[in-house]
Order: sequence, then C-alpha cells, then structure tokens
Amino acid sequence: MPTHLTVKGLVIRETAYGEADRIFDLLTENGIRTVRARSVRKPGAKYAAVTQLFAYGEFCLRQSGERFFLDSAVSKNQFYGLRNDLEALALASYFSELIQKTATEQPQAQLLRLFCYALHHLSEHDRPPLLVKAVFELRLLTELGLMPDMVCCKVCGEYLPAHPVLRIAEADFACADCTDTTDPADIEAKPSVIQAARHVIFSDFDRLFQFRLKAEALPLFAQYTERFLLHQLGVSFHTLHFYHELTGPPNAGAGTEREAIQHGTDEN
Ligand SMILES: [Zn+2]
Repeated sequence: MPTHLTVKGLVIRETAYGEADRIFDLLTENGIRTVRARSVRKPGAKYAAVTQLFAYGEFCLRQSGERFFLDSAVSKNQFYGLRNDLEALALASYFSELIQKTATEQPQAQLLRLFCYALHHLSEHDRPPLLVKAVFELRLLTELGLMPDMVCCKVCGEYLPAHPVLRIAEADFACADCTDTTDPADIEAKPSVIQAARHVIFSDFDRLFQFRLKAEALPLFAQYTERFLLHQLGVSFHTLHFYHELTGPPNAGAGTEREAIQHGTDEN
C-alpha cells in the first residue's frame, strides 16, 4: 500500500531520467527525499518548473517502499533572479553540495530555512554574494554543532580585542598580544569580523542576513568562514573550485569595491 505525504521542499539536484521523467533530490524539513516525477520533461508539462533545480514548493508525494513519486506540486518560489546570474548559480550549487555532504537523517528544518533565505538574497541581488556565502557557511556549521567559540579571547577573556586573531584549528580567537603561535592558517582580523561571526551564530533567521561589513572586513570574514568550514568538514567541494575559477582566487579583492558602492558601509 503506498502512503501519501505532503512536504515543503527545495529541489537541490535534478537529473533527466528515461524519455521524459526527472529524478530530483528534495530538501525537506525532515531530510533529503529522492523523488521520481513522471513525464515532467514533456513540452507543456504541468510540473516542469516546480521540479527544476532550486525551485521551492509544496509537494504531494507517494511513497512505495523506499521510493518516492510525485503526485502533484504547488510552486512557492522559483528564485528567478538566479537564472541569469552565473555567480549566484555557482554559489547556489555550492550550497547544494554542502547540504548533500552534511545532511543526515535528522530533521533538517533549519537547513531548509537557511538555504531558502540564502537563495532569496542571491536571487534579489540585495546582499553582496560574498556575504551570502560567508553567512551560509558559518550558520550551516552552527546548525551542525561545529561553530567556533566566539565568546571572548581564549587566553585573557577580553570580549572584543582591537587586534583579534581567528584561530582555525582551535576554533576560537585570541588577542594578537595573547597568542604566540604562528599557525599560517590563522587570520588576523578586525573587531567587526568577530561581531559579524557572533551575529551569524546567534541571530534569529529573520535577522540573519541583516548586517553589513566594510569593504575591507568582508573579504576577511569570508576568508575565515571558508577556511574554517573546510577545516571542520575535512572534505573538498568541486562546486567551490568552480566558484573560485569564476570569481578569481579568494582575497584578490575582486568584487569588493563594487559591493561597497552598491551596498554602502554603515558598520565597522
Ligand atoms: Zn587576550
């Protein structure tokens, strides 16, 4: 006996299957479901758009054993702004690979929200893509319980030192004067980077992306979140390589001037 279920979900991977079918991975509040949709690649198919990559909607699924089949779906957001923006698409693909490599059988309600908020900002072009990337990386780690300790300098307890050093292996920070280690992975940062990290770790989702960083602080913050994430997860991501090929090597400063002009700088 097949069972029926209705779930909200985001298509995070899709593959053509057979003559006109599509198989897609759906990120739901309860993890990833792999779904087969029949005939959706035929011209004029009713559920063609809602089963495309990065479509968000409500899906009625039929479960038969371990398999899920699409019965019907209602589109909620297609994130159309992604479709003609290669950098945004590259980042969305990277987020998708991150989710696929870290998702578990545990409930994934927060990961679904995080992904949808990030796609919203990439699609609307109302935040620098580098900021969206950094927030996604650090908040994903937070949801996985892998966030750094950002409470205070690990050595002297100073809450917000003028010259903090972000320590990758220790997953914390210390004043430059307090640390005599010279791990080349560590990053000499600014107080605003510490504040940004605290915001991303502790903020509610509706305020998560509501902050700005000065042009010189954003690349530092983004360099930190990427380096820390790669250290914590211990895997590589081919979509991240593609993103860097597209935008230039990290910390080349590419894009930061444009972002500063577009979005202003109202926070230190
Ligand atoms: Zn200190």
